[in-house]
Amino acid sequence: MGRQDGLSARELFRPGRGIAYDDFLLLPGHIDFHHSAVDLSSRFTKRITLRLPFVSSPMDTVTEHKMAIALALQGGIGVVHYNNAISEQVEEVKKVKRFENGFITSPVVLSADHSLADVDAIKAKFGFSGIPITEDGTLKTRVVGIVTNRDIDFEPDRKRKLREFMSTDVLTAAAGISLAEANRILRTSKKGKLPLVDREGRLVSLVSRRDLLKNRDYPEASKDDKKQLQVAAAVSTRDEDRERVAGLVEAGVDAIVIDAAQGDSIYELRLLEYLKKEHPAVEVIAGNVVTSDQSRRLIDAGADALRIGMGPGSICTTQGTMAVGRAQATAIYFTSRVARERDVPVIADGGISSIGQIAKALSLGASGVMMGFMFAGTQEAPGEYFYENGVRLKRYRGMASIEAMQVGGDKRYNTQADDRKIKVAQGVSGAVVDKGSMLEYVPYLVQGLRQSLQDMGIRNIAALHVALDDGSLRFERRSIAAQVEGGVHGLHSYKEAPLGFRA
Ligand code: GDP
Ligand code: 5GP
Repeated sequence: MGRQDGLSARELFRPGRGIAYDDFLLLPGHIDFHHSAVDLSSRFTKRITLRLPFVSSPMDTVTEHKMAIALALQGGIGVVHYNNAISEQVEEVKKVKRFENGFITSPVVLSADHSLADVDAIKAKFGFSGIPITEDGTLKTRVVGIVTNRDIDFEPDRKRKLREFMSTDVLTAAAGISLAEANRILRTSKKGKLPLVDREGRLVSLVSRRDLLKNRDYPEASKDDKKQLQVAAAVSTRDEDRERVAGLVEAGVDAIVIDAAQGDSIYELRLLEYLKKEHPAVEVIAGNVVTSDQSRRLIDAGADALRIGMGPGSICTTQGTMAVGRAQATAIYFTSRVARERDVPVIADGGISSIGQIAKALSLGASGVMMGFMFAGTQEAPGEYFYENGVRLKRYRGMASIEAMQVGGDKRYNTQADDRKIKVAQGVSGAVVDKGSMLEYVPYLVQGLRQSLQDMGIRNIAALHVALDDGSLRFERRSIAAQVEGGVHGLHSYKEAPLGFRA
């Protein structure tokens, strides 16, 4: 082989200056396959392999059950945040584990004594009005009727009770039937809703006609051996969170993320050893770390994966405030090199705002990428949309922003229970644009990432890491002029992709 262009990773990362994603590019390889042949499967932890390398951040504006379900359906995984009561986080995990595609598993119900105004309020808040009626208005009692828009839309007196309007000859089916069977019943009966009930006639779930077209299969879904969606959850290093872990494990969580901004502490090592001993079936992701030494210590203590990043996050002010951290590309390269020797996957966390940066993180040795910014602003992220200057937005905030810390978010900053009176923020709160549904956004990211690997001439993530190690993956430093040249320049005006998909 002749002399190769560019640099190997070893040459690119000569000790000295920290390198960020934008400081380098990958050189193209030879393409002899279609991009659809690129396989994005990757290891999330030692024992969990996923079809996609996408992980959502444990942040209260990013990951609760809706995000975790949408990601797991498509092959990634969500990490449920812990800026809440133990019972709330546990319930979020249970909702993911209980989820069955196409079945609405905790439908909104009312009793016959509720009024039309109650249905109006539900319609205004959630957008649907097909409401099953149970004896006492909870899921604990039998279904006695159903109210739909057509029963009540022309009645002017909204104080009247549902008892007068509900249909009582409800077509139901037995819980446990397949989605295909439920869809068939909906089609042939021409009904709008099919309540599924247990032997006592209590509502277990609901299938809606409007979802018929959406109710497709997700063959890539991340599932455990009981065929339930996989989900991770974050906890702090505080002793009090051992109780949290017990609740999460009981709820069936697949992995625990020990969430600490500086993960190389005696607090984290102690918790890690405790978790490996007390809950050996659960995978533990330890972090955050950015150096080889930190990585070795967490691996020695039993980490099943490492989470990498200190300061690159879009909402993060750590490097300015604490003077400690590392440029993210450099951090990934050095930590993953140590971790690969020990067969431990690493997850690149923070600072990703484009498909190209996902590809760069993986090419430096990451097996997964954790994203907050990218997924905030989707329909599945917690929070309501609002408008500012005509743009549809959602709130997105750092867990160490003053706003989030006031409700408990500072637990990851090695603050102990007694020194929380003075709060030093390491993050900001802000807003991001509407990105639409994860069910459309993730396929867009997948397609882009496949094309990126195809340009490198690489068919899968394992092959990418082999090429990284043997030096055949070639990199180039970018001067400032090269970065300007690589962006749009010189035009009088131009149009970009729609706001949400601009990444
Ligand atoms: P409705 O007739 O007004 O209930 O509305 P549609 O059946 O046309 O649409 C209801 C949409 O809301 C479907 O996409 C459902 O999956 C969704 N949905 C989510 N949770 C619930 C729920 O608790 N009850 C109902 N009726 N729909 C729900
Ligand atoms: P993003 O994807 O928005 O660039 O970064 C998300 C990551 O930033 C999270 O996964 C988490 O590691 C980190 N993070 C979340 N909140 C804060 C914060 O308030 N301060 C700092 N320093 N990092 C944060």
